[in-house]
Amino acid sequence: MKMLTSAEIRQQFLDFFAEMGHAIVPSASLVPADDPTLLFTNAGMNQFKDVFLGRGTRPYKRAADTQKCMRVAGKHNDLEDVGRDTRHHTMFEMLGNWSFGDYYKKEAIAWAWQLLTEVWELPRECLWVTCFKDEKGKLETDEEAAGYWRAQPGIDPTHVLYFGRKDNFWEMGDTGPCGPCSEIHYDRGPEACEKQGAPGHVCGVNGDCGRYFEIWNLVFIQYNRASATQLDPLPAKHVDTGMGFERMVSILQGEDSNYKTDLFTPLMRRTQEMLGHTNAQVEENIVAYRVIADHGRAVTFLIGDGVLPGNVGRSYVLRMILRRAARFGRKIGFTGPFLASVADAVIETMGQHFTELVTRRDYILRVITDEEERFQRTLDLGLARLDSVLSTLEDQIVPGPEAFKLYDTFGLPLEITRDVAEERGFFVDEQGFQEALAGQREKARASEKFEMDDKTLSAYSDALRQLQDKGSLGAGGVEHDPYTTVEMETAVIGLLVDGQWVQQARPSDKVQVILPATPFYVESGGQVADTGVIVRLPQETAKGAGPLWEIAISDTRRPVSGLIVHVGEVKSGQPRVGEPCWALVAPDRRWDIMRNHTATHLLHSQLREVLGTHVQQAGSLVAPDHLRFDFTHSAMLTQDELDAVVENVNDLILSNYPVNVHYENYKDAVGSGAMALFGEKYGDVVRVVRTGWPDEELVSQELCGGTHVNSTAEIGSFLVVSEGSVGAGIRRVEAVTGRGAQSFILSRLNKMNNAAAYLLCAPDELDRKVQNTLEQLQAAQKELGRIRREMARRDFEALMNTVQTVGDVPVLAAQVKVTDVDAMREMTDWYRARVGSGVIVLGAAIEGRPQIVAAVTDDLTGRGLHAGKLAGAVAKVVGGGGGGKPTLAQAGGRDSKRLAEALALVPGLVCEALEVSA
Ligand SMILES: [Zn+2]
Ligand SMILES: [Zn+2]
Repeated sequence: MKMLTSAEIRQQFLDFFAEMGHAIVPSASLVPADDPTLLFTNAGMNQFKDVFLGRGTRPYKRAADTQKCMRVAGKHNDLEDVGRDTRHHTMFEMLGNWSFGDYYKKEAIAWAWQLLTEVWELPRECLWVTCFKDEKGKLETDEEAAGYWRAQPGIDPTHVLYFGRKDNFWEMGDTGPCGPCSEIHYDRGPEACEKQGAPGHVCGVNGDCGRYFEIWNLVFIQYNRASATQLDPLPAKHVDTGMGFERMVSILQGEDSNYKTDLFTPLMRRTQEMLGHTNAQVEENIVAYRVIADHGRAVTFLIGDGVLPGNVGRSYVLRMILRRAARFGRKIGFTGPFLASVADAVIETMGQHFTELVTRRDYILRVITDEEERFQRTLDLGLARLDSVLSTLEDQIVPGPEAFKLYDTFGLPLEITRDVAEERGFFVDEQGFQEALAGQREKARASEKFEMDDKTLSAYSDALRQLQDKGSLGAGGVEHDPYTTVEMETAVIGLLVDGQWVQQARPSDKVQVILPATPFYVESGGQVADTGVIVRLPQETAKGAGPLWEIAISDTRRPVSGLIVHVGEVKSGQPRVGEPCWALVAPDRRWDIMRNHTATHLLHSQLREVLGTHVQQAGSLVAPDHLRFDFTHSAMLTQDELDAVVENVNDLILSNYPVNVHYENYKDAVGSGAMALFGEKYGDVVRVVRTGWPDEELVSQELCGGTHVNSTAEIGSFLVVSEGSVGAGIRRVEAVTGRGAQSFILSRLNKMNNAAAYLLCAPDELDRKVQNTLEQLQAAQKELGRIRREMARRDFEALMNTVQTVGDVPVLAAQVKVTDVDAMREMTDWYRARVGSGVIVLGAAIEGRPQIVAAVTDDLTGRGLHAGKLAGAVAKVVGGGGGGKPTLAQAGGRDSKRLAEALALVPGLVCEALEVSA
């Protein structure tokens, strides 16, 4: 056996199946494109699920790939195992080959044997295979597969074994495609068994020890499960195989641990270099090293596929894994962010095949470091809090609500709380945690998007199949051409009213219309669906007559691949299935959309030009009245940056660059620099939209299925109407073009004209006029303040005539007319300055509410007088309260009408206080 690198092993697998006539397809994103039931892509077959369910087709019948997969919980993986053993991972690669109704068991088995024994030269005596034999005796034994296995050159026939439903029968779900499978196991020799001599251990295939490794599962999909008891044979049989790449590499490189293969050693080495650890220290901390390597890979790929750290769903998983790795890092000596450097090693190791990592390198590294820093700020607080929780517990169980609070308030993922608790001999009440979490999520759920259920989906795919059987639709389904025309002569082949298929609809019926071909665009890639009408026009002879019937179309959808429905309402007449008709897209609205879509591409390219190539599209909406573009960038755009972007885009518009569309091979397109977007699903052949002159550097090129103008001048003009943040590291720009820009400009001009008319100036002088007016206003306010003080001073002089003497103390209690409490305080200062020694209590109704200020000169506080008590006593009468220092206090109330009555109490209160203290 020659030593192969992991890159060579991956390539040899793909080359082998390419030679056998397979299309080599790119790995789908870790974020499943059309499967809302799935958190992450977790198997190679995910991207082909629609084919197996009969809802979709592909231009090829044989395919092979390596698929990025992610498993973080459930029957296949538990996070705690990762790092503690040598073969569990969160993110891993699955190699696979598929036949969609093409070759079957014979070829699949022969090729598997050939690849393993001839290409990779694995010793035949170490290979074991298993076939299906129903322990309940109800399903057919897979002698077909067993026979092919025994026929392979050099195979030991005693190495062909039979197992039951648990090991060798594969099902997609409770219903749906299923069938027997054949597993290939590799015997690593008796010394690899860690259970030797353990009571009850039978050392053999499926014996659950380290000796026999399952390396490849060949699934033969031959039934459709209709119910728990009914299996129907499928007309077209499929093959679906999966090989764990990391494990295969460990076998071919002769290592007993996945972490010792060249997939992981560069990551471990990077960590070791940063810490300056000796090899012995690495061994001492091997679990942390493995966790950092495994999680570092997962984090890099997740961010590369557009996931950002957050608190729900995929975002939570990313945050949790990243923080878990960061905490393990702290345990072995890191004091600052370090994961970006591990991610860098991941990109060096895997970027050659997964080129999206290289393209998004800077972005990935920045997101990681941002999140690590955010975590570091909360981690100490969280751990301190956990410490105090642990030290006060009476038993060994951390209550669920406490764990939830650590998560919710301190950003400590449950998995970290559990790690820390377990290290110190505690457990976490995880059920309690989940309950607290569910309570919080309940609120969020109401806002979640409605997803079509499986039943509705099957109704549509049944309809599609029936239309195809009848010949109303071809094998490719509805012909979709929104690109070359906005009107098309066609015919009604299906009508759905209130969920029922009908032959004829009546006026005001809400209908879904199926046509064999349509120019209506279906919402995708952020571009909204077309609206318009479907009409039956009268014969040539009946010129001048109105349509025989008309349906207003408000939405266009693709419920299942191959089927397009036009959603609308019958405006007049009675449309029937089978009748000819015209499908007419609302043309003005469509032009608005096309302008906004092409402008979106120009905006994307100019954001990268002005801000840098870290800018990646993170979301987009192309509607008729505006466009919205979300992109990765961590800072707010300065006015200069924004101006530059807007100016550049308008320059590109004025230069009238042609917009060209080409269909090409995915690899060629990406190789020539076209931008592929997060979360988009690309087939073999992609559509590339390029803006620019053929012989010059392109202005923009993107993989895109949208509709576009022919040349940039058709956009008219481009204006940004808002810029803001929509989350960590994501900015949003909203803009208008064409008619939208026109009406935006006109409405702004109108407002300016109106404002100029109010201010009696020319619109051009508006800004200077506004500034002048504001200055005048300020001066006037200043003057007004001065006058008010003067008036208050005069009022005060008048009030001084009402000072009474209680004992030997001058007392002033009066209601004043002021607009704020400060004015009253100022009056108390004047009073103190005038009398030297005395008491003053003022009241005023300010904005309808009574306010009271009381002051006592210092010398009198020793004689029982207290401003706070005076203010409080007076305020009580007006329905309020308050207090303050002995020398100055303030209080408020509710009933202004009783202010005079309240203030009249003051002399008595002063008298009382003096008497008590004397
Ligand atoms: Zn064993
Ligand atoms: Zn586009």
